[in-house]
Amino acid sequence: MRTGLRISSLVPSGLVVESVSDSPDSIILAVRSAASAVKCPSCGSVSRRIHSRYTRQVADLPSAGRKVRLRVITRRFVCGVRHCRRKIFAERFGGSLPVRARRTARLECIIHHLGLALGGRPAASFAKRLMLPVSNDTLLRVVRRRTCPPTEPLIVAGIDDWAFRKNHRYGTIVCDLERRRIVALLPDRETATVRAWLSEHPEIRVVSRDRGGGYGEAAAKALPDALQVADRWHLMENASAAFLGAVRRSMRLIRAAIGTTTINPALLTCAERLQYQGYLRRQDANTAIMALVKDGVPIKEIVRRTGHSRQVVRQVSRGQSTDIFRTRQSTLDAHLPFLDAQWALGCRNGTELWRRLQVQGFQGSLRVVSEWRTRRQRAEKATDQQLQKVPSARTIARLMTTARDYLSKADTVTIAAIEAHVPTLVDARTLIERFQVMVRQKVVAELEPWTATAGASLIASFASGILKDKAAVCAAITEPWSNGQTEGQITRLKLVKRQMYGRAKIDLLQARLIGTA
Ligand SMILES: [Zn+2]
Repeated sequence: MRTGLRISSLVPSGLVVESVSDSPDSIILAVRSAASAVKCPSCGSVSRRIHSRYTRQVADLPSAGRKVRLRVITRRFVCGVRHCRRKIFAERFGGSLPVRARRTARLECIIHHLGLALGGRPAASFAKRLMLPVSNDTLLRVVRRRTCPPTEPLIVAGIDDWAFRKNHRYGTIVCDLERRRIVALLPDRETATVRAWLSEHPEIRVVSRDRGGGYGEAAAKALPDALQVADRWHLMENASAAFLGAVRRSMRLIRAAIGTTTINPALLTCAERLQYQGYLRRQDANTAIMALVKDGVPIKEIVRRTGHSRQVVRQVSRGQSTDIFRTRQSTLDAHLPFLDAQWALGCRNGTELWRRLQVQGFQGSLRVVSEWRTRRQRAEKATDQQLQKVPSARTIARLMTTARDYLSKADTVTIAAIEAHVPTLVDARTLIERFQVMVRQKVVAELEPWTATAGASLIASFASGILKDKAAVCAAITEPWSNGQTEGQITRLKLVKRQMYGRAKIDLLQARLIGTA
């Protein structure tokens, strides 16, 4: 039976198979070029004079579960041109078998993609199964070597930071928001580094960045003509945080409004009692500091006498002493709106809430959620007597921004009392709501009157921050660009980073992330 398959069609084009020798796990093909005359690489003239021959060993794609090696019979030619620098040259085999390569181009392409998808070690063990002769070091080397930086001009850039190791080392990520791809990873988040990088890319017209000062400053210096866009999500987040700050600063008034200025330790839970004792200690310290402030002792001297930090002394002297029950930053903070919604839908089971949160990306433990559930349930059952206990600033901020219809009876009474006695806080809430509506509905004309009013309220520092960053905030309201996409790319970056057990250097991360696009 005749088949149409010739053995020469299995090797890269331009090569002819001379002989085949095979063993149970490999096939060795001796191949040579089909051309009889070749061009000199220096002068380009054609030569037919063969000087000598040698063989090159080159790996190729496996065939039928066996490794394939090519023994390439390479001819050396004599260049007959008189003034040519080369007297003798070896023949070239084109793109399918690059000069000095140990692998055919088609094998290298597969190795490159394997390395991009899986990283060094996992890709190496997978390659072994595929009968591809390659080590993990080679895989990574190929990934690094074959990365080509993007060639399209970058017009709309999104910048954010990402963690090499959380709380230890951070880098900067730059994305092309138009083409939805990562453009560069920078080794830190210093203003100078980002500025230097941006200066090399004068074609950028729009820079989308978060609300921290560093990137804005870098962009302003490197690209003074580019439009800066603040991140909308961060704007909303900062607005909520500003309101929480306003509530914290009003706690004294709130406590007076609710009618409990004294605390009965018998009603406290164990953890709260510890906090309360700490509060009494802090109160003593505060009175001592305030007495010194009244006597006109300079801050430096107070620090020396009392042993408290400069920051604490300054806070106390400004009347910003902390509240009794401090709320700590918790892993739950970002998920509180979702939890509230689930609670409102009737879910009362801690484990179930935790499971639903996990689907949302929550990584904390069940215990955190169960504790939240218990606290929440107690709050629902609040009786008049328990009402004597003042809720935390965070709870008050949440209750004040929740629609009346959704509050329990006890909560409604509390909030009504606060609203009646602390009008400045009600003003602050109205301002925050106005700000959020403005961002959501893209009404940029509102910004000017808003900052004017907010400047004289409890959220003045938030307003002055907005005023300092006014152009970028305006752009955030009007422009379609935002950093949400950059956050998504950071998730991808984290995945690749963890896949390499967190040991990849930045160039390798960059090669794997940019190489796939
Ligand atoms: Zn020549």
